[in-house]
Parts: sequence; C-alpha cells; structure tokens
Amino acid sequence: MAVIDTLRLTAEEATGLLERREVTAAELHEAYREAIDDRDPELHTYLRVVDECVGDGVPIALKDVISTRGVETTAGSRILEGYTPVFDATVAGRCRAAGLPLLGKTNTDEFAMGSSTENSAFGPSRNPWDPSRVPGGSGGGTAAAVSAGLAPWGLGSDTGGSIKQPSALCGNVGLRPTYGTVSRYGIVAFASSLDQVGPVAKTVRDVALLTSIIAGRDPADSTTVDHPEPIRLPEREELRGVRLGIPRQIGDLRAIEPGVRAAFETSVELARSLGAEIGECDLPLSFEYGMPCYYLIAPAEASSNLARYDGVRYGPRVDADGYREMVERTRDAGFGPEPKRRIMLGTYALSAGYYDAFYGQAQKVRTLLVREHRDALERFDALITPTSPTVAFPIGERAADPLAMYACDLLTIPSCLAGLPGLNVPCGLSEGLPVGLQLIGPQFGENALFGIGHALERALGFDPVPERLR
Ligand code: GLN
Repeated sequence: MAVIDTLRLTAEEATGLLERREVTAAELHEAYREAIDDRDPELHTYLRVVDECVGDGVPIALKDVISTRGVETTAGSRILEGYTPVFDATVAGRCRAAGLPLLGKTNTDEFAMGSSTENSAFGPSRNPWDPSRVPGGSGGGTAAAVSAGLAPWGLGSDTGGSIKQPSALCGNVGLRPTYGTVSRYGIVAFASSLDQVGPVAKTVRDVALLTSIIAGRDPADSTTVDHPEPIRLPEREELRGVRLGIPRQIGDLRAIEPGVRAAFETSVELARSLGAEIGECDLPLSFEYGMPCYYLIAPAEASSNLARYDGVRYGPRVDADGYREMVERTRDAGFGPEPKRRIMLGTYALSAGYYDAFYGQAQKVRTLLVREHRDALERFDALITPTSPTVAFPIGERAADPLAMYACDLLTIPSCLAGLPGLNVPCGLSEGLPVGLQLIGPQFGENALFGIGHALERALGFDPVPERLR
C-alpha cells in the first residue's frame, strides 16, 4: 500500500491511487479515520464520523445540514438532536452513486446561521492554522477538516458566504455555484431564495470535479436547471486577455484589514503579470445596501422555514399540557440564541403592516443588485475582491456582538443576492493566517471561474497545509 499523507493528498491524486490499485477505498477511508482520531479531538470539525467504508471512491465529509440516510443530521441544533433521516439529500445520493464513502458529518453554526461555528449547539470548531481562532462559518467544520487533512473534500451550503468565507479563513478552495445549478432537496433549509450547496477542497480542479458530480437538474427541487455547458476540469495556466474587474467601493472599506488588502493586491499584480486586464467596476448599491437587504430577506425566509420544528415530527419534544404550550417549550429549549434572533427579526419583517416596508423593499433592492452585477459583468469575465475582510479571528472575539459577526460577510453577500457563482482561492498569508480572494462570475460562469482560479492558484503556489502541521 502507498503511504497516504492525508495532509497533502488531493482528491485527484487519491483517485489516481485508487485507479492504479495502489490503495483500496477502505485503506483510504481508514487513513482519514486515523487522522480524525488523531487531530479532531483538538479541532472538533466533525459532529459524527462513520466507521464503515461504503463505496469504492475517494471519501467525503458532508456538512451536517445535508440529510444522510441512516446517519444523524442535526444542522448543529439541539432541536434536531437524534433525527436520523430515512432518505438522502439529492447531493448526498449523487455522492453515494459516484461511490464516495461518507467520512462523517461536519460541524456548522446552528441552521447555518453564523460566520464562525460558535453558534453550533455542540461547540465551536477550531482553525487548523491556529486552534485559538475560528475556522469561519457556517461551514467551518468542512473547511477545517479539509485543511487539517481530515477529509480530502467536502460539501457545504452557502446562503450569504458559508462556503466561501470559511474556505478563505482555512486556506482552501470553495465554490458557491450559480443559484439553481445544484439541488437543495434534503438540505435543512435556511433561506430558500439564497441557499446553495457547493464543494470545498484543496485545489480548484478537485472543486471542479466535485461540482460535476453534484450539479444538475433535480425534479425534487423545482429551482434547478441543467448547467448549460458541462463542468470541465481546468487546464490552462495563463490569464492572457482575461478581464478582471475590481469594485471601486472596496478601496474605501475600512473593514478590510491591511494584511488582507496587501495579499489581495499582490495577487492582482500577479494576475496582471500573467496577462490579465485589470479594470475597475462600480457596485455602489451592493456595498451600501447588500447587508441590510440580506439581513431582512434571510431571516424572513428563515422564520418561515423554521416554523416546521414544532416537536411533533423531528427531534426532542418538551411535553406540556396543551399543544400550544408543548410547541412553545420545545422551541424555547431546542433553538439557540441566533435562530431565535432571526425568527424574531424575520417574523417582524413579514408581519402585517411591515411587510411592504421591510421584506417588500428588500426584494426591490435585491433586483437593483442583480442589475448592478449584470452590468458590471458585461465588461469583465469575473469580478475580484478579497473574500473576507479579516483573517481568522480569536474564538470569542465577536461572539457577543451580532453586528460584528454579520460584518464577516460584507464581501460575500452581494453576489449571493444576485444569484451568481463565487469561488474562493487562497492567495497568501497575513500574520501567518490564510487570506482568500473571491472571484465572481456571471450566471453559469463556473468553467470560466475554474480556469481563472486554476491559473492563479498555480502562479501563487500557496501551500494549503497549515504551517504548524507541516
Ligand atoms: N454568515 C451569514 C449568516 O449568518 C451567512 C451564513 C450562510 O451562508 N449560511 O447568515
């Protein structure tokens, strides 16, 4: 059997080992299971691991919002504790059909609400680059697992940044696909007009490969369509003639840390030296109104989606005399503070007399953001920004300040509202911690993003293995 260094092995390399019969799928699964036993007690990236290797391919980690037949799925919430789905989410089924054995279910902020995994009812995950810091969120478990060699790849979900931001903070590649290209059937719903499932891995090519496995129309999710062109693995390594647009507004954003800005600017210069044409675009409404717009629409939809957790069908119930009291007590005991905050915000935004002023108004603003992005992408192949304004921050630093936590998504939210694909590619270090850059493409522009991301990744030569684990 070949020596398996899970810290460095890419999914593509693992596929090669399997094809050449240098390892078996069971040996590969076992190697990751050993790495998990070794490092996960410190990092807490998994909520549960699967001992048995089912499948003949490269093993995978799935965020715990993805329903898995026979494997408990909690979405990081007490209110779903003990819930074992009797069916697979479509994406889990596609991974199963492709032969990818499940390694386990990864930690997430409760109902994917958060940017650090500190809102998980089961405790935070830690960043493999510095365990005193957060891995980002909500998909911090998957991103940290990939970065620490506890999974070669994984799936997350992204409503306003939950794939891109943790990938940035952990130094791996993450894609939020075009809205409607990947099925959400069987995903614990947060905000249905925004939720998308997408891959996280060490390389752009691995992310492209996993995208090709999960994308496609699903009759069980009526928002899905087939990708107009098949997903291709990127090959080319130059950027000649590629037009990249930097939003003018990020120049004034004080929230962007100097070290993040420096790493970003260095990569932009590198892109220029590879032949890219760099220009400026204008997204004034996106940066001014993106956050308030998101924090009306997402909680409004969440308040509706979370109404189903009533103690009748899922999870633990707190008994009481009448139905109403049982539901109240169950929801009070089962939901943590962040879902409760969002249910209240969202219910208010949707209530009679306020609907037009809040939810209705936010929908109109969203239409303007869609147009603004469409106009910007007429002149550019992709837009480019830092992914997160900061590097990974210390656990606890923002936990008591919801607005500071919401600000993590300043740069990822606008394109989510516009339904566009976004790719995080690690671009350097600041104070020894990863910095990510975000590439935003037009609708169905995944192949172009993979091409640009792959060229940049090759030129940057970022080492995705955390320094302290090398
Ligand atoms: N951090 C954002 C929020 O709390 C985005 C989360 C997500 O994309 N699921 O809503």
